Amino acid sequence: MGIVLGIDLGTSNSCMAMVDAATGQARVLPNREGERTTPSVVAFDASGRVTVGSAARRQAVLHPRNTVYGVKRLIGRRFSDPAVQRLMKLLPYEVVADPSGNAAVRVHGQVMTPAEVSSHVLRYLKECAEAQLGQSVEGAVITVPAYFDEVQRQETKLAGQRAGLTVHRLLNEPTAAMLSCRFDESRPENIAVFDLGGGTFDISLLHVEEEVVQVLATCGDNFLGGDNVDELVVEALRRIFLKQTGVDLTNNPEALWRLREAAESTKRTLSERDQTSIELAYLVALQEGPLHLSIPSFSRTLLENLVAKELERLRAPCEQALEDAGLTVADIHRVILVGGMTRMPAVRARAEAYLGHPGERSVNPDEAVAIGAALEADIVAGISPETPKVLLLDVLSRSLGIRTEGGRFSVLIPRNTTIPTRETKVFTTTFDQQTHVDIEVYQGEAPTVDGNRYLGELQLAGLTAAAAGTVRVAVDFTIDADGILQVTARDPTTGRKAEATLRPPTATSP
Ligand code: ADP
Ligand code: MG
Repeated sequence: MGIVLGIDLGTSNSCMAMVDAATGQARVLPNREGERTTPSVVAFDASGRVTVGSAARRQAVLHPRNTVYGVKRLIGRRFSDPAVQRLMKLLPYEVVADPSGNAAVRVHGQVMTPAEVSSHVLRYLKECAEAQLGQSVEGAVITVPAYFDEVQRQETKLAGQRAGLTVHRLLNEPTAAMLSCRFDESRPENIAVFDLGGGTFDISLLHVEEEVVQVLATCGDNFLGGDNVDELVVEALRRIFLKQTGVDLTNNPEALWRLREAAESTKRTLSERDQTSIELAYLVALQEGPLHLSIPSFSRTLLENLVAKELERLRAPCEQALEDAGLTVADIHRVILVGGMTRMPAVRARAEAYLGHPGERSVNPDEAVAIGAALEADIVAGISPETPKVLLLDVLSRSLGIRTEGGRFSVLIPRNTTIPTRETKVFTTTFDQQTHVDIEVYQGEAPTVDGNRYLGELQLAGLTAAAAGTVRVAVDFTIDADGILQVTARDPTTGRKAEATLRPPTATSP
């Protein structure tokens, strides 16, 4: 097998890593511009040329409608999804419904799926890796949020395939982050992964025991991240400028763009230092001459005061996740901080306050997910003989089964079964002369289906008409490592089959 990368396909930034066959160590591969992370931004010009990463981001202000970013929040979602409707209002590019009613983008009059946009990011990473390694990249392990449903996973896989990658596995992001740090395999642990990125917050609670990782709960906020912090700083800068010059920048997109860039870099600087200065020369050109923004001192305290209320929003998802998992902070053994925003001291303080532990020191928040994916890729590809063969297994969070007579729930795969797994059970008809059966699939722990969650159904027709209880139907449940459930119903006498693909959540979806 050729090279298999670990790829963290992020909402704002993506990162790739691989295990060196010689050392057995995972390392980040920089992109063509020498950066260790790549903005997940794709720009399309009128002639069809595609630009990815920082170069795309730099020209965004000039071509806001042709510069697409943050598609991870759209992927695999219906256009009518309230989250999509809300997001649309904030995005400078056009979001439309594709022919099947899924959220898509339209650039230069052309409709593109989020998977198509993401495939450009993945292809760029693949090409950067190939250029520096001088070898072709065959495949990847790509990470996804733990709460991604079947469609979101399928679309992410498709994005990889479109980029010319064999997607060996989709790995949950918190699981990847956990893999990136050393842990004691002999002792069961509860681990919290606190991930604050550019536009999303995810908190996941994992239980790790030997080689099995159970996602106990995931919770989060799809509209909370670094962008919110940047917006608040922009607003503060706009007010300062108004006070200094009497000029309001509200309707000046180019000046606002520069304020946003300044806000972001100020935020980053203040993660390391107590104070900084902001100088933006020629922010606006008036007839009387240019105006500059000059703030000799902008302190960390000022930043923290500006965003304190926003950061308070991190609390509720943490509490919810603990409640869903049936844990208290006393049951948590370690906290892993992931996402660029966890470099901000005030964010780290919040994580510690809500989860009861300081974050792991050894973890690089920008790279942990990609490093974990690379370690998994190494196992999948079997490249380096040095790496211990810990095969990560997720477990099924709730039992899976079908509806039987009287609305009873018949379990095929009980909860906490490690996946991938497979189970077949034989059922018989309940009525005389019955020629078809409806297989209704449910998930949950209640003895009757009304207490459980409906996942979907399939029908097997063309059964031999006979007395009740004499015609047999074999129902097969197969769950792959990506958590995708394939249901097959088969008539063993005729060989007739019906199939459906479903995705049970491995953890509670937010
Ligand atoms: P995602 O997983 O959503 O792609 P990232 O983990 O890359 O996002 O996080 C991006 C966010 O982290 C941005 O808002 C960025 O400004 C912020 N960020 C990056 N580095 C720092 C830093 N040193 N201090 C504060 N925020 C940072
Ligand atoms: Mg991320």
